[in-house]
Amino acid sequence: MNMLNIVLFGPPGAGKGTQSAKLIEKYQLVHLSTGDIFRANIKGGTELGNLAKSFMDQGQLVPDEVTIRMLESEADKSPDAKGYIFDGFPRTPAQAKALDNFLATKNTSITMMLALEVEEEELKKRLLLRGQDSGRPDDKDPAIIQKRIDVYRNETEPVRDYYQAQNKYTGIDGIGSIDDIFSRLCDAIRSIAN
Ligand code: ADP
Repeated sequence: MNMLNIVLFGPPGAGKGTQSAKLIEKYQLVHLSTGDIFRANIKGGTELGNLAKSFMDQGQLVPDEVTIRMLESEADKSPDAKGYIFDGFPRTPAQAKALDNFLATKNTSITMMLALEVEEEELKKRLLLRGQDSGRPDDKDPAIIQKRIDVYRNETEPVRDYYQAQNKYTGIDGIGSIDDIFSRLCDAIRSIAN
C-alpha cells in the first residue's frame, strides 16, 4: 500500500497540533496525537487517563509500553487510512522502533519526518500564552514547561537521529505565520513524497 505517513516532530509549543489540523485536511490523513488521546482519556476518567495524568502533570513522558499500545490500538481504528500524521509520537527511540515494526506488519512505513524548528525562548512564550486559555495544567507553570523542554532535549531529540539515519529527516523553520509554515511543510511533502 502506498500510504503517506508523516512524523510531525518538534519541541513542545512548536506548532505540531496547529499544522497537523491543516495537513490532515489537505492530504486526507488520519491524525494520531498521543497528547490529544491522553487528554481525552483524562477527560473520560479512564484508567489510562489517570495513569497518564500523573506523568503529564509533572512534565514527564508517559511510559513507552503504555504509549505504544495505545497508539497502535488507535491506529487500528482507521484501517483504511490513506496515511497517518503522527503528532507527539514517537517521543523516544524505543517508540520509533515500535512504530517501524507496527507499520511493517501493515506493509507500509514512515514516508518522512518533518521537524518544526523553534528556539527555546519562543517556545516558552507560546506555551505560557496557550496556558492562559487552553486549560492545560502543563502549560501554566514555567517550571513544568522547562521540564518538558528538558525532557525533549534529553529523551526525544535522539528520535531525530533515528530518522536521519534512514534519510527521512527534513527540518522546517517553525517561525513565521501559520500559513507560511504550512506552505513550507507542503513544499517539503511535494518534493519528497513524489
Ligand atoms: P506538547 O508537545 O505541547 O508538550 P502534547 O500534547 O504532545 O504536548 O503532550 C503532552 C504530554 O503528554 C507530554 O508532556 C507527555 O507527558 C505526554 N505524552 C504525549 N505524547 C507522548 C509520547 N509519545 N510518549 C510519552 N508521553 C507522551
